[in-house]
Amino acid sequence: MLDIQINRTTAPKPRPDQASLGFGRHFTDHMFVMDYDEGRGWHDARIEPYHALTLDPAAIVLHYAQESFEGMKAYRTADGRVTLFRPEMNARRFAGTNRRMCIPEIPEEDFVQAVKALVDIDRDWVPTAPDTSLYLRPFAIATEAQLGVKPSASYQFLVIASPSGAYYESGLDPVKIYVEDEYIRAAPGLTGFAKCGGNYAASLAGQVKAHDLGYSQVLWLDGVERKYVEEVGSMNCFFVIDGVVRTAACTGTVLPGVTRDSCMRLLRDWGCTVDDQTRLSIDELMDAARTGRLEEVFGTGTAAVISPVGQLYYEGETVPVRDGKTGALTQRLYDTLTGIQYGRLADPYGWVTEV
Ligand SMILES: *Cc1c(COP(=O)(O)O)cnc(C)c1O
Repeated sequence: MLDIQINRTTAPKPRPDQASLGFGRHFTDHMFVMDYDEGRGWHDARIEPYHALTLDPAAIVLHYAQESFEGMKAYRTADGRVTLFRPEMNARRFAGTNRRMCIPEIPEEDFVQAVKALVDIDRDWVPTAPDTSLYLRPFAIATEAQLGVKPSASYQFLVIASPSGAYYESGLDPVKIYVEDEYIRAAPGLTGFAKCGGNYAASLAGQVKAHDLGYSQVLWLDGVERKYVEEVGSMNCFFVIDGVVRTAACTGTVLPGVTRDSCMRLLRDWGCTVDDQTRLSIDELMDAARTGRLEEVFGTGTAAVISPVGQLYYEGETVPVRDGKTGALTQRLYDTLTGIQYGRLADPYGWVTEV
């Protein structure tokens, strides 16, 4: 148990208009902060008014990207409660990321306690309009000021919160995907399974290229042969081919998504065949699309929940998926997951935690 000191703001900010929240642009009145120093461990857990950080320009995070982060949401139910979705999964994944990044681990129960404490103090900031949420961003940074390449001797763990708008303005909206055959996102032994800023920095060039060509996301192929499909943008990816739901295995190069795991559980309980072991090659995928056997494609992640794919471009060829329309399984997963998250549906899995 953390002993969290609370320093409330004396100048609460005006609340942004719920109709134009967007994503990650507004921040609440408070933030959670905890420090780490070698020999002392994590200490001084506290909630403070939201403020800019003071960092030495030589802080290791600014040069060598020793950092880790998480992404999760707090939801407002119709009867006014505030809930989290499987926060212990984020806590466990954060611990795994921190091990890979040589950042001292934060006990899983302390991570959940910190997130809940911030949501509790900024409870009024959890928006009430349909499909809005309070996006939560826990993260850890290396703060030691020195330019040698080595793990930092000091860190900060922070949690900030951002009221965010509905991802879809008017129903699920299938996106066009560019299959990236030049840049890669991950390779065996690297950090693909970890949620760290470096993965995102390395993905920007591919993202920009796809955007410039009129596509909204990149489909990443494996980093060794550029042959097997792995993830789409910053989401896990599912393909329904010949009645089987396929997704890449989490064997080091794929981020183990909470939404991915939840979708696989739902699909199996609905009697669907899910294959998360057999690698799917881009040639097999394009062939399935050409011959009408590619039934649905969708990405999964906390921000969009489910993102249908309506078109794929790979090496000069464009193939439609379901004529650009959202598939039935895609829609059912979206309705069920958001139904459980917002308390409209029963929660038979015990996924929802009240704050
Ligand atoms: C965060 C993330 C996901 C999705 O994980 P969720 O827990 O479902 O939000 C997928 N891929 C990448 C690369 C990610 O960073």
